[in-house]
Parts: sequence; structure tokens; C-alpha cells
Amino acid sequence: SEQNDDVKNFKQKDNKTDVVTQYKKERGGSKEHLYMVVIGHVDAGKSTLMGHLLCSLGQVNQKTMHKYEQESRKLGKQSFMYAWVLDETGEERNRGITMDVGKSQFETDTKLVTLLDAPGHKDFIPNMISGAGQADVALLVVDATRGEFETGFDYGGQTREHALLVRSLGVSQLAVAINKLDTVSWSQERFNEITQKLKVFLKQAGFKENDVAFVPCSGLTGQNLVEKPTENELLTWYNGPCLINVIDNFRSPDRPISKPFRHSINDIFKGTGSGFCVSGRIETGSLSTGDRVLVCPSKELATVKALAIEEVSQQIAFAGDQVSVTLSGIEMQNVSIGYILCDPQNPVQVASKFQARIVVFNVTVPITKGFPVVIHHQSLVEPAVISKLISQLNKSTGEVIKKHPRCLGNNSSAMVEIQVSRPIALEVYSDCKELGRIMIRVGGVTIAAGLITKVILSTN
Ligand code: GDP
Repeated sequence: SEQNDDVKNFKQKDNKTDVVTQYKKERGGSKEHLYMVVIGHVDAGKSTLMGHLLCSLGQVNQKTMHKYEQESRKLGKQSFMYAWVLDETGEERNRGITMDVGKSQFETDTKLVTLLDAPGHKDFIPNMISGAGQADVALLVVDATRGEFETGFDYGGQTREHALLVRSLGVSQLAVAINKLDTVSWSQERFNEITQKLKVFLKQAGFKENDVAFVPCSGLTGQNLVEKPTENELLTWYNGPCLINVIDNFRSPDRPISKPFRHSINDIFKGTGSGFCVSGRIETGSLSTGDRVLVCPSKELATVKALAIEEVSQQIAFAGDQVSVTLSGIEMQNVSIGYILCDPQNPVQVASKFQARIVVFNVTVPITKGFPVVIHHQSLVEPAVISKLISQLNKSTGEVIKKHPRCLGNNSSAMVEIQVSRPIALEVYSDCKELGRIMIRVGGVTIAAGLITKVILSTN
């Protein structure tokens, strides 16, 4: 069987050199797949907006809509009917909040969009991080109602933190829905006021001006979502694209399909039949049924028995795809959320210590040596400490301003060493952007984001 494995490995390699040709053959004629995360302060109207969009695009059948309408009327919360399109369980419905990263799909002229709906509640940011980690683009929803935009944008609101988070997680293109404009009589002045404030902030957060588009709309009335506006007041000052066109105009993301295979696990479940499934995104490379994969950090080998995208079986899947992978040859209890599947011949690194270039944006106490934190790396959440402050850097040029600083405050950039409580699978950012990013949190608040610059292997 070892010989068989060799033959297979050889075949596998041969396949991989041709992966671009295969990608073109498999996907050439179809619409580009885009993953979009929806972010914004709680009650900004994210669920209502996306629910209405999906209904207008015919993604929800009449019968279901009718049911939601009746149920919501009974509860006296009629405006919630659109939000329910995205929330599935009764518990969420009763609490009136979206709890997990629920998925839905719709099409634009040139794209197939999968929604990763991010919850707005503060406790749910870890879920959002795993949603945003898989996103190509983001839709930021802000409430234009007087006082409400300010609540979401000022300290303690989630507008800023979400925008910083998605940017730190690698999302560079953003659509901003200036939502609930019906509550301010479609005021151009209000639209401009909010847009100006956001522009300044988003630039600081690292978004390029050309990669951010602002759309006036109302998720509740459906104005300017999928059709040109009909509201007279809005028509007097706006003739730009509606939300669906803005989404269609996003550039297609890079698909690093020729790089070594890496897949980050964000869910594990028992499949039908033997074996079990892991699901997540193929970050780089491609994966075929029959491939051998290395599970890291545990470094166990497994075989891919089956592959599926949105429950449809595939022979091969590529970077950027969300896939469920049925594994055999490994015990389910030896795999955890946050683990990485990779090419055994070209594996990821495994280490518990690394250097990172971080940007600190939200600490109440300055970071000092030995500072305890929680590291988010893809779907992995792990306790760690900032074990060394190596140097403080100029934020824009990266030049060293100070060696061995005693502490790091807000708005500082620095090179630090991080010691994680146990080994994790990771990569240096310059080798693999997708696995080279981390978020740093303390007490449920994101305080910094960073890029891994060097992996420090233990000497024993
Ligand atoms: P989420 O927490 O961001 O998902 O917000 P929801 O979609 O649950 O909406 C929060 C509240 O705002 C609900 O009471 C909605 O009915 C209301 N709402 C949402 N969109 C609009 C809108 O465009 N206009 C108005 N007037 N109310 C809205």
C-alpha cells in the first residue's frame, strides 16, 4: 500500500501543476463566487436589510414570506419579518437577535454571493471574527437615524471595531449602507454628514478611498436595494448605483490556487456513514478527493474521502471555496476547530512562539512585557502572553522608533514576541497572508491586530 501511496502522491503532484487549467475548466463559464460578511452596530438593521434584499431577489418563496408575515404580526413585531429570513431558530427569533454566522446566497449580474451574516451583539464578536476570516468583501450597515449613528460610531459602539476587525482580517473592499434614511426624510445633509465621518475613520483603518462605496437606503422600505430609487426626496440628490449594483461592482478576489494547499477548520461534525466532516475555507491551493492531508498542529495524516460545496459533491475544490471535507484515517476527537489541513509535502509551520508586527488600537491599560491576551488565528482562540516588546515602529514607514519599549499605548505600532499556551499551526505573513494574520483580544475586546513576521521554533 505504501507503493500505492507513492503512485498517488506522484499523481497528486502532477495534478497540482495543472491546477490553473483545471480551475478554468471547472469554473470558467460560471459566475465568480464572492463571500460577503455583514457588519455593523446592533440594531443598525443588518438582518432586515439582508432579508429584504433576499426577498426582493426572489430567494425566499412566497409561502415562507407569508408565514413570517403572519407570525410577526401575531407577535406584534411585524417589522421583524425580513430579519427572520436570516435567523432560523425560534430562540433567536424570540430574542430578536442574530446569533451565529448564518449563510444565504444570491446572485448579481456577474457574481454568486454567499452571505456570512455577522451578529451585532457585543458578546458575539468571536463568531464575527470567524465569519470575517472567510470573507472576501464586507457590507457595513449604519443607522442614519439622528443619535443612532453616533451611538454606534462612538466609543463602545461596534461600528469602528467591526470595520477595524474586517480590515485586519484582510478584507479590503467595503460597501457602506447608510441605512434607515427613511427616518430622516431622505436627508442629503444627513447622508453627507455620516459619509464624511466614516471616510476619515475608514482611511485611518486602512481602507483605500476607491475601495469604499456609500449607498443611501432603507432595509425596511426596500428603497435603493435592488432597483433605482422611487423616493422623490432621494431622487433629487442621488443618481448613483443601488446596493445590488455596488455589490456587483466589487472586484473579484484573488484565488491563490497554485500555492500549497491550506484549509482552516471552523466546524467539525459527524457525517452520514463512516468518517466525519470538517468544514471551512480553502485558503490556498486546491484539494481533490483521495488526497492525503496533514492535520496541524497535531501532525496526523488523513485521507479525503469526499468533498462538498454547499452540500454538492465535488471532485476538486479551490482556494476561496467553503468546503466540507469528509476525512478518514483519523479520529474525530483528534481534530479541533482552528486546526489547519495542509499538503503533507509542503506543510504549515507549528510553533508556540512567534514574532508579529502589531497595531494597538483599543487598550485601556498600555501593553507591557508579560501582558496576558487571547489570540484569534483563523477560527482558533488561544490564551497567550506578549512575551517581549522588541521595538516600537513608525506606523506608516515601519521604521524602528525605539528599541525595547517599556509599554505600548493606543495607536502605536510595534514588533513583539508572542508566546501561545500551546503550539498552533501558522505561517509567516509574507508566505501566506491568509494564515499570517492574528487578532489580539483582552476581556472580550479586540485591542490589536498583527501580522506574523517570524516563527520561533523551540530548540528541544
Ligand atoms: P440588526 O441588529 O442590525 O440585525 O438590526 P435589525 O434588522 O434586527 O433591525 C433593528 C430594528 O430596526 C428593527 O426594529 C427593525 O424593524 C428596524 N429597522 C431596520 N431597518 C430599518 C429601516 O430601514 N428603517 C426603519 N425605520 N427601521 C428599520
